[in-house]
Amino acid sequence: MKVAKSVAAFRNWRKIRTGRVVLVPTMGALHHGHAALIRSARKLAGRGGSVAVSIFVNPTQFGPNEDFSAYPRPWYRDADVCRTSGADAIFVPSAGEIYSPEHSVVVEESTLSATLCGQSRPGHFRGVCTVVAKLFNIVQPTHAVFGEKDWQQLAIIRRMVRDLDFPVGIVGHPTVREPDGLAASSRNGYLSAAERAAAPMIYAGMRAGAEKKSSAAVVATVGRAFAGIPFARVDYVEAVDADSLAPLKSRRMPGRLLAAVFIGGTRLIDNIPLPPRT
Ligand code: AMP
Repeated sequence: MKVAKSVAAFRNWRKIRTGRVVLVPTMGALHHGHAALIRSARKLAGRGGSVAVSIFVNPTQFGPNEDFSAYPRPWYRDADVCRTSGADAIFVPSAGEIYSPEHSVVVEESTLSATLCGQSRPGHFRGVCTVVAKLFNIVQPTHAVFGEKDWQQLAIIRRMVRDLDFPVGIVGHPTVREPDGLAASSRNGYLSAAERAAAPMIYAGMRAGAEKKSSAAVVATVGRAFAGIPFARVDYVEAVDADSLAPLKSRRMPGRLLAAVFIGGTRLIDNIPLPPRT
């Protein structure tokens, strides 16, 4: 497995690849959710293709009071997860390798980014789109795999690829969960034992809401369930159209239920489908 720290070293590896090159962009601190993405990238790449994982804790997608410095960077374990899951290369640049000190060009999606996490984390998706556009230009993947765990991010990346004509096939991977239902996340490691015990109530509350007949009843039910979670402070709960992320008017349309909840000081997000009801 190739480990490239510079753009030049990665490009040297890339230019002799034939066949599909499937990119899995990550911030490291890899868990079994990321491993599942890498394994599905391996399948998608096929026998003649290659899988590249990028590991980059992107400073521009963190707000001033967020966990950029504290974000875990367990390099040896991450390299192991990549190797055992079928990666052929890891691109692991420094911040200085990605951003020149005077960088002044950004990529901004202006509609889907205005809601949900975009409202609570101003500038977050500008950072995400900019770094993903740069990774696409450096890696030149034929395909890239993103997790449905970050539903809004996936919708925004699809929009960016469509609107800016990136020749990259975007593949969504279903959310990987812990046995108790909590969505696997690098940030789960921040939770105390008592907070960790409370966190599965996010998914349980969302599932209870999804049974309801109207969007309003869905959101109200989830809100009541979340009010009973110890240590919890709700950021948002919304039922939206799965693609446009506009408020879901009717449960006759396929929708998505998205939520962000602080458990103690840790902000967790989750989402589940709202299948159309007849
Ligand atoms: P991250 O490094 O956690 O920001 O995520 C890197 C990629 O892994 C993103 O496409 C995430 O959506 C995806 N991912 C993270 N956690 C999960 C999960 N539990 N299930 C599926 N995909 C995930």
